[in-house]
Formats: sequence, C-alpha cells, structure tokens
Amino acid sequence: MGECTHNCSTCGEKCSAPQTDNPHELSRIKRVIAVVSGKGGVGKSSVTAMLAAAMNKKGYSTAVLDADVTGASIPKMYGVRGDVQSDGIGMYPVKTEDGIKIISSNLLLENESDPIVWRGPIIAGMVKQFWTDVIWGDVDYMFIDCPPGTGDVPLTVFQSIKIDGIVVVTTPQELVSMIVEKAVNMANLMKIPVLGIVENMSYVVCPDCGKRINVFGDGKAVGETAQKFGLPVLAEIPYDAKLVAAADGGKMDVQTFEYINPAADILESGLPVNTH
Ligand code: ADP
Repeated sequence: MGECTHNCSTCGEKCSAPQTDNPHELSRIKRVIAVVSGKGGVGKSSVTAMLAAAMNKKGYSTAVLDADVTGASIPKMYGVRGDVQSDGIGMYPVKTEDGIKIISSNLLLENESDPIVWRGPIIAGMVKQFWTDVIWGDVDYMFIDCPPGTGDVPLTVFQSIKIDGIVVVTTPQELVSMIVEKAVNMANLMKIPVLGIVENMSYVVCPDCGKRINVFGDGKAVGETAQKFGLPVLAEIPYDAKLVAAADGGKMDVQTFEYINPAADILESGLPVNTH
C-alpha cells in the first residue's frame, strides 16, 4: 500500500479510521459533535448556537469551535467580540455572557466585517489549529460549526478532529434527500456516526391560535428522508422571528428556544463519553 491519503473509497486496504490529531494537552474534551449542512443559509450556525446554549443551560461545560471560517457568525450570535489571548502555551477561547467557550476566525480579525480571502488549505490549517492549539480546558460538549457542503475544509475537520457524531441541518426547500445522502456518505467514509437531522424553517406557529402551518408542501420531505436513511429527526424548528432577533442582537446564549430541546435531550442521553 502507498502512503495513506485518507480517501478510503479509493483504497482496497482494510485499516482503522483515519488518524486524527490530538487536541492541546491542556484540553479535556468529552464529546465532539459536528453540525453540517448541504449549503449555506439553512440555519446551521443558528442550530449550532442553540444546541450549545441548550447544553450549557443543562449545566454542561460547553464549547463551540467555529470552523465556518469564511462565514463565521457564532461570535455575533452570542454577542462576543475579540480578543483572543495567547501565550507561549497556546490560545485561549473567549467566553460568552452565559459561559460558553468559543473560538472563531472572527475573533481574530481587527474588524468583524473584514473578509477572509484565503485559499482552502490555509483555512483548513486554521481550523486544525483551533483544535490543536487552543487550550479548551474541561469541556463536556464541543460543537463544531462546519462550513457548508463537502469541500476542503469540512474534510479537514473530519480528518483532523475525532468527532463523535454529526448533526445534519436541512430545510424542506433543499433537495433534502440528496443533501442528506451526501452527508451520510461522507460520514460513513470517515467512519463517523450521523446522529440525526434537524429540520429548520419548515413551519410557522400561528401567534393567535398556536396552530402549526407547514409553509412548504405537506411538511413530510425531511421526515421521509430521515426514514429512508434510518435516522431520527432530532428537532423541528419553526420559522421564528424571536430567533432572528436573538441572533442579530447577540443573545443566542441567554435566550431559550424550546424547540431545540428534543435534540439536546438526545445528545445528553445518547452519546457515550469519549475523552479526547
Ligand atoms: P447557515 O449557518 O446555514 O449559513 P444561519 O444560521 O447563519 O445559516 O442562518 C441564516 C439566516 O437565517 C440568519 O439570518 C438566521 O437568523 C436565519 N434563520 C435561521 N434559522 C431560522 C429560523 N428557524 N427562523 C427564522 N430565521 C432563521
């Protein structure tokens, strides 16, 4: 066998899962969950922020590694600005008002609106450093806000970080089945379990009578896809102006979002501790 490229689909050898990098020696991270989506704008970062906030409110030490380097939005959603401290030992995450530890490319920029115009390998290298060079300390649940799609950077995330499970975020407008299938195939290739699907922006709740109104068709697309792949729908999130206001106002850590709780409960009960 030649040198391992970690692309198991082109290799006939039987080997164990690709070798991942160790986190910083001062990090003790119990569970790592990657949040992925097929494309941008479906609410992946919002779901990441809500899941982390829900686990934090349950009393777990929680962290978010923002790997969506070019579309970094986690600091803004939590109302956090610079300034990441570092010393000869490593880099230190910044804490939100509610105590969630975060690291993001946006925290390293002088102006949060500065664009990041780096090529894929540089971006991927930065994500890797967020894992290996950041002193995370004790973390019960780390969430990784992955870049959308199945490109260079998500691949690096999956290859360098030992991930315990993947959460797929989708909306009913997407080509749900194809997007989920891609995510599942990629996860299988990397030997990472897919924990389930979070369905976002599929319905609204009538403010007067509380009735659920499916905005897109009969509202079955995501459920049927989940069934096809034998995956649970972890949560169904309505289109909610409260969520937009919290994200824009930097209050995603202190606000509660009851509709994310089923997903948080599953993560709490269904994931083994696997200290990294
Ligand atoms: P992604 O990370 O997939 O690019 P974001 O989480 O940044 O998506 O969300 C994209 C936009 O959609 C943001 O303005 C966000 O506030 C909004 N959004 C996400 N989910 C919802 C929702 N359930 N209801 C209303 N707006 C939402």
